Amino acid sequence: MPPRVTCYGGVGEIGGNKFVLEDGGVKVVLDFGTGFSDGSDYFDSSISPRGVNGAGDLFEFDLLPQIPGLYSVKALQNTRVKYTEPEFDAVVLSHFHSDHTGRIEYIDPKIPVFCGETTSLIHDAYTASTGSPLHGHPIRKFRTGDRFTIGPMEFHPVHVDHSIPGAYGFVVHTSGGTMAYTGDFRFHGPAGSMTRDFVDAARQAKPKLLLTEGTRVAPGDDGGNMSEPAVKKEALKMVRETKSLVFSTFRGNDVDRVNTFFDACQETGRRLVVSMKVALLLEKLTADRRLRVPRVGRDVDVYLRRKKKGKFDDSDYYTWERPFITKGLTAEDIRKKQKKVFLHLEAWNFPELIDIKPDRGGTYIHAATEAFNEEGEKEETLIRNWVGHVGFRYAQLHASGHAPGSEVGELVRDISAKKVVPIHTEYPELFGQFNMEGNWALEPPVRGKAVPIDT
Ligand SMILES: [Zn+2]
Ligand SMILES: [Zn+2]
Repeated sequence: MPPRVTCYGGVGEIGGNKFVLEDGGVKVVLDFGTGFSDGSDYFDSSISPRGVNGAGDLFEFDLLPQIPGLYSVKALQNTRVKYTEPEFDAVVLSHFHSDHTGRIEYIDPKIPVFCGETTSLIHDAYTASTGSPLHGHPIRKFRTGDRFTIGPMEFHPVHVDHSIPGAYGFVVHTSGGTMAYTGDFRFHGPAGSMTRDFVDAARQAKPKLLLTEGTRVAPGDDGGNMSEPAVKKEALKMVRETKSLVFSTFRGNDVDRVNTFFDACQETGRRLVVSMKVALLLEKLTADRRLRVPRVGRDVDVYLRRKKKGKFDDSDYYTWERPFITKGLTAEDIRKKQKKVFLHLEAWNFPELIDIKPDRGGTYIHAATEAFNEEGEKEETLIRNWVGHVGFRYAQLHASGHAPGSEVGELVRDISAKKVVPIHTEYPELFGQFNMEGNWALEPPVRGKAVPIDT
């Protein structure tokens, strides 16, 4: 069979990337993530898929494709689908966001996962704390410049800039020509030149097919592009104006954002305080010499929240949390030092504000994507209520992890593949606007339909 790629997710949706690349009898899964709205018609915070039914509850609503030889014994044991030995040779992962990794937990752990070295460190940190979807799989690590082969396919991973460290795109040589996959990318982050490296490598390989993300190829995207340095500039202004506590919600694995707020703290004499989970991640990531990561203890402090009996006893905490207890700052410590603290606080930890009791007049920075659906709007209302309750001002400040539509168009033109399959976008057909000269064929993906690399 000629080499081909089949999309099972990321089809007309942002996230949920699930692709299968086949060459001869060799099959590779390229990302296997959870869609952002996966199952929201049937499941929400009050109705969840049952663990006992493995992948069965997801099969019911077609939230996972029923592919033979892919899933684990555990995922299938109580379902109507019979387990068979793996027919897949590898999972190749672009980066550690759940919309790319989330469903790997159902894949047979006999199948190895290929990921970047930084991603493997993030996986280690999550395994030690709240769990990783890669758990149990043999991990094969790569870096930019490496080449690895899976059957007749040769993979060239090339770093890209994104809102989590260790993000990659791939150039893949198959027996029927070359294909390229962008993963998620942006040019406006602190390491935008890495995405440029990927574009150059892909162009030089003259790919027949390009699988590209298009998150912001959308009618509503205004091309507005706050960069990470701009976030820092605005944050500095806000922190300087604030006389009491500053607290912020942001993704703790966005190390660029951690550095941005760490820098803002350095310049204003505040201490950045993060959760134990983020502290553990930062500690693991210090092993990556190429990453700039603030040191726990020296540069950032850890928030010590009350658990179980509420007395800060070792037995109140998980083993991985215990080393942080003696160095942790309690709610009372934060209140005493509030003029000198910048606290990272996820929304689910907002009840901590009841213990902290900060003085009114502080600043809250929502350093995440603005609400884009009903669920997001509901969360925003809750956040605004909490912020109002403590008498703080609410500020929105964020640099997107994704390139604006116009820059995606430039990437498509630069790489100039013969065929373009837009994924990780709600508007694949909008890519037609980048093809004024008609130099390539637009192939909007169809769930479960194979697209040959060549032709
Ligand atoms: Zn994504
Ligand atoms: Zn991502």
